[in-house]
Amino acid sequence: MSKPRDFASGYARSHQIYEVVGIMLGAACMARLGYGLVSTGLVSGWWMPLTVFVGLMGADFMSGLVHWLFDTWGSTSTPIVGQLAIRTFREHHVDARTMTKHGFVETNGHNITLSMVPSTIGLLAVHHGTLLSALVSMSCFFMALCVAMTSQIHKWAHLPEEQMPRVIRKLQDAGLIIGARHHNRHHVRPHDSYYCITVGWMNGPLEFVRFFRVLERVITAITGVEPREEDAAATAEAAGPLQPERHCAPPAGPLSPEVAAAASAERIAPAG
Ligand SMILES: [Zn+2]
Ligand SMILES: [Zn+2]
Repeated sequence: MSKPRDFASGYARSHQIYEVVGIMLGAACMARLGYGLVSTGLVSGWWMPLTVFVGLMGADFMSGLVHWLFDTWGSTSTPIVGQLAIRTFREHHVDARTMTKHGFVETNGHNITLSMVPSTIGLLAVHHGTLLSALVSMSCFFMALCVAMTSQIHKWAHLPEEQMPRVIRKLQDAGLIIGARHHNRHHVRPHDSYYCITVGWMNGPLEFVRFFRVLERVITAITGVEPREEDAAATAEAAGPLQPERHCAPPAGPLSPEVAAAASAERIAPAG
């Protein structure tokens, strides 16, 4: 069974090189889209606030979908994505503070690379000169920006209070980026809810319609694979002695009885 140090040791030099290349390509795609928007005069109009909102919600949903995917399926021995992606998600549940020690490349490499998806869609739409293309390309630009920042935002949510930049705390308190109080709902075994980690606004609607539970049932019915097999074993083994989590304040608002019981069992203490 993987231990925390085993997860950490999986960050290979080749992985780092891949992330540096991904950061350069992701930044180049976003810059090219930004230039396209400015040169075609699309960065104005009533659609600006709408596209910011759509981009933010799109990034929040994408963060939840990718997070759920790598939390739930596969293992660290899955070809390609096992070490490149799943490993970091397993590590994060076993020791949530590890990511606060990661440098810029290890923190942001995946997400800036992933931002190429909305950037590329935006680039395909930006030169069509219609209102629809303006809406799509602007939304894709803001979505790419938010996707690229999601891992850094997630890292801020885990930072100890004394290391938190004041402006970031204000953004968290205003609900404009996800903070510890909201994100802590995910950090309760079995880590099967509140996956969205950009701003968290999509978590409520997705939990209400049981979006991920329905997807899991469909996938299990088709493949016979049960969700969270490796993650459940790793987090149960790593639970060990109970320790307070200063960086994770209890969530705002009421908890379900199951979550409250699990949180109590893991002794998640109030921040500060
Ligand atoms: Zn997770
Ligand atoms: Zn987290």
